[in-house]
Amino acid sequence: MPQDARGTPLWEVELGPERPPLAANVRADVCVVGLGGSGLSAVRELRALGASVIGLEAGRVGWGAAGRNGGFLLAGLAPFYHEVVERVGRERARAMYALTMQELDRIATETPAGVSRHGSLRIAESEEELADCEQQFDALRADGFPVERYDGEQGRGLLVPGDGTFQPLVRCRTLAAQSLDAGATLHERSRVVDIRPGCVSTEHGAVHCDLVIVAVDGRLEQLLPELQYTVRSARLQMLATAPTREVHLAHPVYARWGFDYWQQRPDGTIAMGGARDLAETREWTTVAEPTDVVQGALERRLRETLGVHAPVTHRWAAIVGYTASGFPVIDEVRPGVWAIGGYCGTGNVVGSLLGRGLARWRVGGDDSLVRPFVHADD
Ligand SMILES: Cc1cc2nc3c(=O)[nH]c(=O)nc-3n(C[C@H](O)[C@H](O)[C@H](O)COP(=O)(O)OP(=O)(O)OC[C@H]3O[C@@H](n4cnc5c(N)ncnc54)[C@H](O)[C@@H]3O)c2cc1C
Repeated sequence: MPQDARGTPLWEVELGPERPPLAANVRADVCVVGLGGSGLSAVRELRALGASVIGLEAGRVGWGAAGRNGGFLLAGLAPFYHEVVERVGRERARAMYALTMQELDRIATETPAGVSRHGSLRIAESEEELADCEQQFDALRADGFPVERYDGEQGRGLLVPGDGTFQPLVRCRTLAAQSLDAGATLHERSRVVDIRPGCVSTEHGAVHCDLVIVAVDGRLEQLLPELQYTVRSARLQMLATAPTREVHLAHPVYARWGFDYWQQRPDGTIAMGGARDLAETREWTTVAEPTDVVQGALERRLRETLGVHAPVTHRWAAIVGYTASGFPVIDEVRPGVWAIGGYCGTGNVVGSLLGRGLARWRVGGDDSLVRPFVHADD
């Protein structure tokens, strides 16, 4: 493996002063566990609703997948739209998709730094996949959602014009700053070791509260073992290159049924992820380390498919939650203890939506942002 910053994501930025760990027994209306994009979105909404809120984070803000991902902002869920229609019916599928589109707009407005809206491509690499793109096209068009057929420099498939990319760690940092400004209390390096109705404990303190929101995607089933048959943690890996002008990729790409994905940043850097299925059994793990097998496959893809020879400067991995159904978890796991997660590798938009929506539902009494997602896999 060449010399590079193993384990350091492309997105690494200065997070600002560290928030002190929880070191006492305190009280708040709501305790949010996990300060990635989903948890922070919940925290901020809770403050907007006037609730007192304490957020607890094991590492630093955005230390999980939320600050180490591919940077795609995609409408919809992990399963393609026509599959969602088949599984939950047209009305519910349409409501889910529309809510994610609105959330994507909201992300671009609220935390605009690093957001680009150049659409995203789904590129087919076989006739079967191209036929599946046609089904996705028909289903999206039938429900009035924007989608184009694409046949161009980057391959054949679909263009979803409203999609985009962002700098994920910058969003986490911005959400944390906005939450603090709005009066939330955040504690970093405060790993939650026990969750009971009305009480969340870390090693050095506890939060007594009326409501607990656990917003942890990867390793959710470790924190809440009730979810061990619903959520399974997996590792996803990425690499990034030095800035290059060898190619000009106008759109981020989602290829080979979504298993592989890449984008070119405005400075020319290529960020590429995927190949999980090529080493699948070994990728069902909670060890967030890049491996030679997956990194080798990504590098071949970079060199052979894209023809890019720029040096690889970053390789990294993080853990996400998968559900067998493909739908995310939004569930009251213990009395007053709600969990969200299990986004199957596409949680940037839907995680933010569910974090905000759950806060609004449980504290504000308005379930309109989450209704289609509740018991979606029943
Ligand atoms: C390599 C990779 C590429 C991806 N690409 C994309 C993409 O392009 N588009 C997309 O939409 N999605 C993508 N995803 C998925 C996406 O990153 C996640 O679904 C999303 O970021 C989840 O955010 P979250 O806030 O729900 O959870 P997380 O990011 O998992 O945040 C949970 C936080 O909880 C903390 N935590 C965990 N346990 C405890 C505890 N016991 N006590 C306190 N804190 C705890 C963690 O440290 C973490 O900071 C990708 C993921 C990876 C790994």
